[in-house]
Amino acid sequence: MLILRVDPLRPDPEKIRAAAEAIRAGGLVAFPTETVYGLGADAFNGEASAKIFKVKGRPADNPLIVHVRGVDQAQEIGDIPAGVLEVMERVWPGPITFVVKKKANLPDVVTAGLPTVALRCPAHPTALKLIELSGTAIAAPSANKAGRPSPTRAEHVVEDLGEAVDVVLDAGPTFFGVESTIIDVTRGRPVLLRPGPFTAEEIKAIFGDVEIPAFARGLGEAEVALAPGMKYRHYAPDTPLLLAEDLGEAAAYLRSRGLRVAVLCALDKCADGDAVLRLGSEPYEVAKNLYDALRTVDRLGVDVAIGPVLEERGIGLAVMNRLRKAAGFRVAKDIKDLEKYASELARRVLR
Ligand code: AMP
Ligand code: MG
Repeated sequence: MLILRVDPLRPDPEKIRAAAEAIRAGGLVAFPTETVYGLGADAFNGEASAKIFKVKGRPADNPLIVHVRGVDQAQEIGDIPAGVLEVMERVWPGPITFVVKKKANLPDVVTAGLPTVALRCPAHPTALKLIELSGTAIAAPSANKAGRPSPTRAEHVVEDLGEAVDVVLDAGPTFFGVESTIIDVTRGRPVLLRPGPFTAEEIKAIFGDVEIPAFARGLGEAEVALAPGMKYRHYAPDTPLLLAEDLGEAAAYLRSRGLRVAVLCALDKCADGDAVLRLGSEPYEVAKNLYDALRTVDRLGVDVAIGPVLEERGIGLAVMNRLRKAAGFRVAKDIKDLEKYASELARRVLR
């Protein structure tokens, strides 16, 4: 594995060229985007793209996002209605992915055999330069082992994937820290498949309307047909995580049961614990630090981690979606819920 450090805003073209060569040769390149690190391969090379699934341990029915340098390249891959093209022109490059009907020229492995393709143009100089110099589109999911928190630093990529990656472009921590917003525009009304940095409020302002299914809020499993990737366990630390309406009550109760507790604090919600991780005092700071904190939890030697319930507005919708999924949808609303979870923990059935 070759690790190349680059300045995120002024990446050295020679280093990007080396990474682009690896893409062209059918290799795997981990690269920064404004959201998280991606694990990229030539989207038109089926064998190269298949390696992504193998290395991540990703189920074959969970399709990849295809990264393009702009609207022109997007049109070569997807069948994009005029109204959607106009929107893409306005919002790209940016942290929003559009699911559109695909044209027949992509290998099936990339789209998991679906008639649709997810397209995105990342707002990160390093990622854009890599796509440009590769001379192709880049299929890339997040560069983590399937089910683990997404990587927001090159170190996370190395930790999860190690030698399986040919080149890692290390541009330091990513800007937003949560994955791109995904909307499906193949149905009459746009459907939010995954909330992200491009907010539901912004989508509503542009399209006039957006459907937000319960799973996009992190309330339960997704309908498989609509959002193939959303049915899997995701973002989770190995340490059991649960969310609590009242962090103070939860920390005190769980510790009274003899459990060692790590508390994830965010905004003004915090409590004393055996360990305390502060995500930030501002919503974007919380998003940016979330995945690193979920990875850190596993190094603290605690029995359980507890996290807050935050307002689902702006970037907060994305944060709560990730937290709810990482917690396996467990939210303690009162002491009864806490008693139940503590008993499950004692019987080691909760993870
Ligand atoms: P990741 O960036 O690692 O989260 O992976 C890409 C995400 O995009 C997954 O959640 C996929 O399910 C989703 N995705 C990719 N292609 C499609 C598609 N054609 N329809 C719906 N979701 C998709
Ligand atoms: Mg992922």
